[in-house]
Amino acid sequence: MFETVLSAEPTIRLAAFLGVLTVMALWEVAAPRRRREVPRVIRWTNNLALVALDTIILRLSFPIIAVGLAVMAEERGWGFFNNFDSPVWVAITASMLLLDLAIYLQHVMFHAVPGLWRLHRMHHADLDFDATTGLRFHPVEILISMGIKLAVVAALGPPAVAVLLFEVVLNATAMFNHADIKLPRPVDRILRLFVVTPDMHRVHHSVDPRETNSNYGFNLPWWDHLLGTYVAQPAKGHEGMEIGIEQFRTRRDLWLDRMLIQPVRGPASGGALDPKATTKEPVE
Ligand SMILES: [Zn+2]
Ligand SMILES: [Zn+2]
Repeated sequence: MFETVLSAEPTIRLAAFLGVLTVMALWEVAAPRRRREVPRVIRWTNNLALVALDTIILRLSFPIIAVGLAVMAEERGWGFFNNFDSPVWVAITASMLLLDLAIYLQHVMFHAVPGLWRLHRMHHADLDFDATTGLRFHPVEILISMGIKLAVVAALGPPAVAVLLFEVVLNATAMFNHADIKLPRPVDRILRLFVVTPDMHRVHHSVDPRETNSNYGFNLPWWDHLLGTYVAQPAKGHEGMEIGIEQFRTRRDLWLDRMLIQPVRGPASGGALDPKATTKEPVE
């Protein structure tokens, strides 16, 4: 069973990735939400080149993947769920919930710590918001995230299936909730009770730091509600709002080489602890 899961892991993930990306790309053409600022070809070429680079760096840097560590933890009795008798569906559900909470908390940390914000703001520096924005992360952020995920898996001892499911679902929802697609308001309202929708996550990509530092959830919207970081809609509306951050606003900044050096350029302003980001002005 474990061997099957492990050997099929790359194929399952690649198939899900390509399938969801294709569906989102077609959906974006059929029902776009906003007018594009930048031709799609510039952003897609560079964003997807970054995905390839991230994947290579990640596979070369870590001797083990999260699913592999979950299998190892199971064999050696590491982590909570491998030392505590519980029905397998409870272990799977609880593990996926806790992994999602961990990702949420990690996201808050990447906004709050200035050195980490320098890495994560590259995700926010995209000048349009579409499915490939959801894949655009600095390689160093990818490596740190992987380290955190492995630590959580070792402590939690989740079923390997839960880790695989979580990673596939997270990859799919990241492309969905960044997609430039128009969902009817009532559909969005019902969907965002259970999952982060594009309209909910777009607020997080607003150039206004008060909006940038809200809606941290990637899968489940509940953590933002519970922990007080939820903002329902952008102040300027979805068509009027500006996407990105104040720094890095030229087309040249969307190129892969520039993206990679963004962490060391300019001040670390705009993060969650920047005074500008925390002063609340009345928003109607
Ligand atoms: Zn963010
Ligand atoms: Zn995002």
